[in-house]
Amino acid sequence: MRTVLKFGGTSVASPAALARVAEITKATKGERVVVVSATAGTTDTLIAAARAAEHGDVQKAQDSLAELAEAHKNLVADALGFESADVLKEIGDLTERTDALLQSVAILRECTARTMDAIVSYGERISAPIVAAVLDHHGVKAEALSAEGLIITDDQFGHANPILDETKARAAQELAPRLSYGSVPVVTGFIGSTAEGVTTTLGRGGSDFSAAVLAAAVTANELRIYTDVSGVMSADPRVVKDAKPLATLSYAEAAELSYFGAKVIHPRTVLPAVEAGIPVRILNTFAPSDRGTTITAASGNDGTVVKATTSIGSLGLITVQGAGMSGIPGFAARVFDTTAAEGISVMMISQSSSENSICLVVPDEATERLRGALERMFNAELRRHDVERIAVEKPVAIVAAVGEGMRGTPGVASRVFGALGKAGVNVVAIAQGSSELNISLVVMERDREKAVRLIHEEFHR
Ligand code: ASP
Ligand code: MG
Repeated sequence: MRTVLKFGGTSVASPAALARVAEITKATKGERVVVVSATAGTTDTLIAAARAAEHGDVQKAQDSLAELAEAHKNLVADALGFESADVLKEIGDLTERTDALLQSVAILRECTARTMDAIVSYGERISAPIVAAVLDHHGVKAEALSAEGLIITDDQFGHANPILDETKARAAQELAPRLSYGSVPVVTGFIGSTAEGVTTTLGRGGSDFSAAVLAAAVTANELRIYTDVSGVMSADPRVVKDAKPLATLSYAEAAELSYFGAKVIHPRTVLPAVEAGIPVRILNTFAPSDRGTTITAASGNDGTVVKATTSIGSLGLITVQGAGMSGIPGFAARVFDTTAAEGISVMMISQSSSENSICLVVPDEATERLRGALERMFNAELRRHDVERIAVEKPVAIVAAVGEGMRGTPGVASRVFGALGKAGVNVVAIAQGSSELNISLVVMERDREKAVRLIHEEFHR
């Protein structure tokens, strides 16, 4: 049994959390690889420090680095109950190096993506030795390991792409021997290096990605992502009182939900594990016996229809309408050329088969700009009345019911709309992809929470 355990920023940020991390790791049988984030907030602080240095405020940059170093020295002393000379030296060395980088940035008044990666790597590089020391202290033989030279990436600094084959080869050299001696490698999340050894990062929140890549590289039996919530919920618990954690999710369902802002994980980041057939479990460091959510490539039929109800607000709905639009090829293309030219991402589209109207949902703040651009694009058609109006409704929200069990199950839509209709919630527009994984509907923003509650109640009674 081989398990990769990833601990996020809040899981490594306090002595109490670190004690949990040790208990969890200890309780996990077999070979273990631990992957850690920087402590919560550290990466943001480092980015701000680099920006301050870039703008010439080297004092501010160095002060915030010194504060980070101090906080981490206190963290490890509090977590261990004594001062570990090794860890303090490690933090000292890394701080010195990062301080020099910040000074160089200030002199050059320039912080390239490559330099930024070198600076922000500090966060994970100091959390790994802290976690390793705490594990050791709790009787788990552990060793901190930088992912530089282990997770090999291309040179897209700031959002580098791991190269799995290379990483596999390095993992066989670096991790396998340690695992066979019963040692737990504590690997820095978020960072990697090019084959030549230049530090890279995998993008914000990238530690999950690191963990998934390593899980695939060592063919783990399971990837566990420990965070501060007990998995992905059936609805936002702030909106729906009896929202429940979901036991299982398919990768596709997880992707749908994350689009709607379920922020627990970004499914794309766990794809390497999912593709390798490794189950990904989302668990809570602070409630480790909670079942959590398991994400797998395909969801077995668990009998649910709508698994989760979610929403996204502060949007605008634009309707382009006119009898002269129907049957004219290229009309929709011109609508979307306009959104593309304005750099506006379209969140939902719906067109009636009479082709008399196309409606699109876009972020609220982009709505008026898009209306203006569409009016210019269809200036001639508007004058001829082929297009009668370009109307805006806002603020609106998209509410989505998500679940693979909806596919091929008749009557789901009628239950969704029935629940809303009975409660008098007006539906402004509707879309369902042919994947039948998601029914999305547009309601006025003021009806958003009510709509989520009604749909959730309909399917989770
Ligand atoms: N520390 C990095 C960030 O905050 C990576 C992570 O936490 O996953 O983006
Ligand atoms: Mg994080």
